[in-house]
Amino acid sequence: MTKISIKEVLDFCFCPRYYELKHTDPNESNFKELYDKTLHKCFYAYLRALQNDTLKNSIEFIKYRWGVEWIKQKKNSEVICTPSAAKRDTYDSKRRAGIDAIITFDNLMSTPQCPILINKEYSIKITRDITLTGVWEYIREVTINEQKRFQILKIRTENNRFQIDDLMRHDLELTAAAFAFQKMFTAEDFDLVYIDIYKKKMSLSSRSDKDFLLLKETVKSVVNCINNKIKCISPDKKCFHCEYRDVCSSKL
Ligand code: SF4
Repeated sequence: MTKISIKEVLDFCFCPRYYELKHTDPNESNFKELYDKTLHKCFYAYLRALQNDTLKNSIEFIKYRWGVEWIKQKKNSEVICTPSAAKRDTYDSKRRAGIDAIITFDNLMSTPQCPILINKEYSIKITRDITLTGVWEYIREVTINEQKRFQILKIRTENNRFQIDDLMRHDLELTAAAFAFQKMFTAEDFDLVYIDIYKKKMSLSSRSDKDFLLLKETVKSVVNCINNKIKCISPDKKCFHCEYRDVCSSKL
C-alpha cells in the first residue's frame, strides 16, 4: 500500500533529485517554500475570518498576519542582527514581495462568496494499492447569473518556473483537487479557479475525463519509479530555477 501526496508527485516529475532533497533530505535552503507556506498561512487565516464573519477590515487583518508570520520565521538573534547580508536581503525582498502579495489577494477576494472548505486535506484511491493525498486550499460558493456554483481555488504565490502562461490548464495539483472533489462529493458541475498572485489575476478552468486519466497514469508511474528506485536525473535549464541549486551535486 503506497500513500503519496500530489506535491511529492509534482516534485518528482520536476526532478527526482529535487524530490530527494526536499522530501527525504530536507534542508533549510528552500526559501521559496518558506515564503509560500507563510503566505498561505495568512491567506487561510483571512478566509477563516471571512467564514466566521469576523473580517472587519480585511487589509489591516492580513497586513498584521503577514508581519507576525514573516517575522516569526526568524530566530531572535536574527531579528536583531542578521550575520549574512545576502540572507538578510532575501528576507527583506520577500517581506516586500509578501506585502504586494497580500494586497493582491485582498483585491482578488473582494467578490461576495460563501467559504465552504479551507485548507482541508483529501485522500483518494488511484488504484487498489495507491492512495493520493492533497489539500483543497479553498472551496467556496458564489452566485453567477443568479446561479449558485461551487468553485475550487488554488492559490499560487510565485511565478512558475518556465513562465508558461497556460500552466493552469495543465496544473496536476488542480486536476487532483477536482478529481477528489468529483469522487468524494459525487459532484459534476463546478469551476476550477486559479489565483495567480504573482501575475495578479484569476482564471477559470475545467477538467475532462482525459485529464483525470492522465493524472492517474502519472501518479502510478511516479510511485513505480520511487518504489523501484528508478530515477532519471537530467540536469537542464530547470536547474537555473531550482531552490536546491547551491546544494545539488547533479546540477547543470
Ligand atoms: S539543481 Fe537541477 S539536478 Fe539538482 S535538484 Fe535542482 S533541478 Fe534537479
